[in-house]
Amino acid sequence: MILRIDRLQTEMPPPSSPDPQGAAAVQELMGGKYGEMSTLMNYTFQSFNFRNRQGARPFYDLIANIAAEEYGHIELVGTTIATMLTGADIDSALEQGRNYQHFIAGGKGVLPQDSMGKPWSGDYVTSTGDLIEDLVHNFFLETGARNNKLKVHQMVDHPAARALTGYLLVRGGVHQVAYARAVENLTGANLMKLFPSPRIPTEKIPECRPHLERGEHLKLYRFSPKDYQEIVAVFNGPHPETGEELQVVDQAPEGFPPHDLPEQEDVFAPSYAPEEIAEIARKLRTAAGLPDEPLGEVASTGRFEKIKEKLS
Ligand code: MN
Ligand code: MN
Repeated sequence: MILRIDRLQTEMPPPSSPDPQGAAAVQELMGGKYGEMSTLMNYTFQSFNFRNRQGARPFYDLIANIAAEEYGHIELVGTTIATMLTGADIDSALEQGRNYQHFIAGGKGVLPQDSMGKPWSGDYVTSTGDLIEDLVHNFFLETGARNNKLKVHQMVDHPAARALTGYLLVRGGVHQVAYARAVENLTGANLMKLFPSPRIPTEKIPECRPHLERGEHLKLYRFSPKDYQEIVAVFNGPHPETGEELQVVDQAPEGFPPHDLPEQEDVFAPSYAPEEIAEIARKLRTAAGLPDEPLGEVASTGRFEKIKEKLS
């Protein structure tokens, strides 16, 4: 089972200028063949199907644990797309957009599709049951994922997209190392010579640098209060690019609260009259004995700017 923490793995900027064209491109990182839905579902299905876990525990723990991190990555891609679509005007959607489903089928939010609007497919999941085959595939999948992130980074300069790709490029590198080490341990093949892959050093990318300075390229987080402890048996040794020691962090990252994206009445998100829903929620919360201030933590609400907009 999965525990859920209402925080993002990395800090994301608040909404700024909307960018529906860029948001359509970022969809590739959600529902494309090499997107985060694919990494999440590949490792999730491989972990469900893993046989003789007690006989191969470090490898099972590695795949199951990385699957949990990938959930946080689909969350980040979703946050990015919703952020980029915030404030996009439905009246000019035809000129601005490319993925009209962002407006018509969704409330200016992410959809399980690629950059051309094609739905994510279960055909993108490889879970053969053969551990070495699956691990080699996972290395290849992480490499394809970094390749696509580099291209989206190059294509889209919106601050949310750049924050996303900068972070995910670093974390994808960690997963590449983890799977390469696993294959090396099982077969003796030295995949460390494949780094960096694609052959672009991460430190050349400005949005990656703050994460490298914090050592995010070295850390594998353990996404469980007490399970998946055997990842340390595989994720160890020097980083193939920097020579620094790889580390297992015995908890999930602390994370950052999300920005509370403001309502978008033109697409009825969450309603054409959101104040009605807010009023009902207020009454229910009072009746339940909850405090006046909502209990959830957010980095900011869009309310303040909205009021300013209305006044000007
Ligand atoms: Mn990922
Ligand atoms: Mn990954």
